[in-house]
Amino acid sequence: MSNTNKSFIHEVRRRRTFAIISHPDAGKTTLTEKFLLYGGAIREAGSVKSRRAQKHAVSDWMEIEKQRGISVTSSVLQFEYNNYCINILDTPGHQDFSEDTYRTLMAADSAVMVIDGAKGVEAQTKKLFQVCKMRGIPIFTFINKMDRQGKDPFELMEELEKVLGIRSCPVNWPIGSGKNFKGVYNRQKELIELFSEGNHGQAMAKTIKGDITNEEFKTLLGETLHQQLLDDIELLDIAGDDFNLEQILEGKLTPVFFGSALTNFGVEPFLEDFLEISTSPQARESNLGHISPETEEFSGFIFKIQANMNPAHRDRIAFLRICSGKFEKGMSVNHVQKGKKVKLAQPQQFLAQDRVIVENAYPGDIIGIHDPGIFNIGDTLSEKSTELKYAGIPQFAPEHFAKVSIKNSLKRKQFIKGITQLAEEGSIQVYRRPNIGVEELIIGVVGALQFEVLEYRLQNEYDVEILMQSLPYRYIRWIEMDNFDAKKFSMTMDTMLVENEDGQPVLLFQNEWSIRQVEERNKKAKLHETSIF
Ligand code: GDP
Repeated sequence: MSNTNKSFIHEVRRRRTFAIISHPDAGKTTLTEKFLLYGGAIREAGSVKSRRAQKHAVSDWMEIEKQRGISVTSSVLQFEYNNYCINILDTPGHQDFSEDTYRTLMAADSAVMVIDGAKGVEAQTKKLFQVCKMRGIPIFTFINKMDRQGKDPFELMEELEKVLGIRSCPVNWPIGSGKNFKGVYNRQKELIELFSEGNHGQAMAKTIKGDITNEEFKTLLGETLHQQLLDDIELLDIAGDDFNLEQILEGKLTPVFFGSALTNFGVEPFLEDFLEISTSPQARESNLGHISPETEEFSGFIFKIQANMNPAHRDRIAFLRICSGKFEKGMSVNHVQKGKKVKLAQPQQFLAQDRVIVENAYPGDIIGIHDPGIFNIGDTLSEKSTELKYAGIPQFAPEHFAKVSIKNSLKRKQFIKGITQLAEEGSIQVYRRPNIGVEELIIGVVGALQFEVLEYRLQNEYDVEILMQSLPYRYIRWIEMDNFDAKKFSMTMDTMLVENEDGQPVLLFQNEWSIRQVEERNKKAKLHETSIF
């Protein structure tokens, strides 16, 4: 093996790319910040705080904007720890953005699920977990806020199984809880790690590590706590699931860790074990079979598009996940779907709080590329192949619909521009009623909050005010039929016929009964749940 090749493979294998999911306030931001602290990317925790302070000072609604705000600096973060190169992908906490979460998970190799130890599995954890499960990636659980009086750890494990339906195996176990949270016990290494305060969590926690048989711990923990730990371990060994790497990697068993992101207790042990258990980027499915990340030819796909991240620049960025080969700044690649060559001139990477121009990047990395409006979500870029396509990113069926029109028809141009942009980012789906102008559109979204985002962004980024009337439809079906003729098509009273931008006929239904009726009445038509059939 040549030296360049050796170093390329080394780069691939030291990469870990994961997404963090959680119910809002479980501690995702704090944990991310502590990872950066341990990785040496920030000197003192709290420096990312302005963002958090803002986030919590505002109403729920502005939260959306903050969700986007977060994306500006940290939707993707890279940092180094112990010779690993780590990419963290942030996901929106609200379930209404689960489509966005799904797309982000497409770019991740595993997920970290943060749970508040006092609250257990919350509503949005549940939703986001389902999205993770659809992807079939390994899920690591971090039970946070152990410095507060919370639920019993055994109870939390039971909750994971009952509410989420996933079996769990604690990799480490908390020693004490609340004010008495002293440390964690690593079951495989049979190691105790005790922590003491590092300046209220601003600095790394001080630790004492040692073998559980070490008599010193009896004194350090006190007789009661020490005995309780021994009892817990015994119970776990009998009652708990065994550590099974294969099942973990298949997403069927979740390794569980306990800690407190606020005080840093347990953050480093989690990071260390997580990096050890999780894998480097693996081969990815494509139309040409599985593509190994260690293939020399560069390739990747676009999983997210975002415009106006920086209002001062009015830029549009496509986020690319590298799947194989080495990326070099300025390289020309095939845009497979468009059948064109494109030059990746100003690729950006997102380090701690900064965006920087990236010279080289490797499989597992995410780079942001300037998009003059040529990329779509799911597009493949490839150095040599003009045919390679990575498995597509499905669009979720919208479940909420509204009639949207402009207040001031002089703003028609901006209106169209804004709507097109948001549709390309994948946050809304746009339909028209036959014979009705573009000033009035039917918009479909997966989560109702997207309507607020639509209204807000049109106003703020395009200076367009809209009128929005919510519609009672809940289901969408694409019609497959030879010589479709709207006049001859029989519908129920409460069904609406619209078309998508390609002029394909689409039906909006209020209930499942109507779907069956329409199927009955139009035997020659086939109704599909997705646009691709
Ligand atoms: P996010 O919404 O999941 O990103 O949550 P944040 O990281 O912003 O945390 C929400 C709140 O919980 C903040 O006030 C944090 O200071 C607090 N918090 C985070 N982690 C811990 C922890 O380990 N212990 C305690 N007591 N509070 C925490």
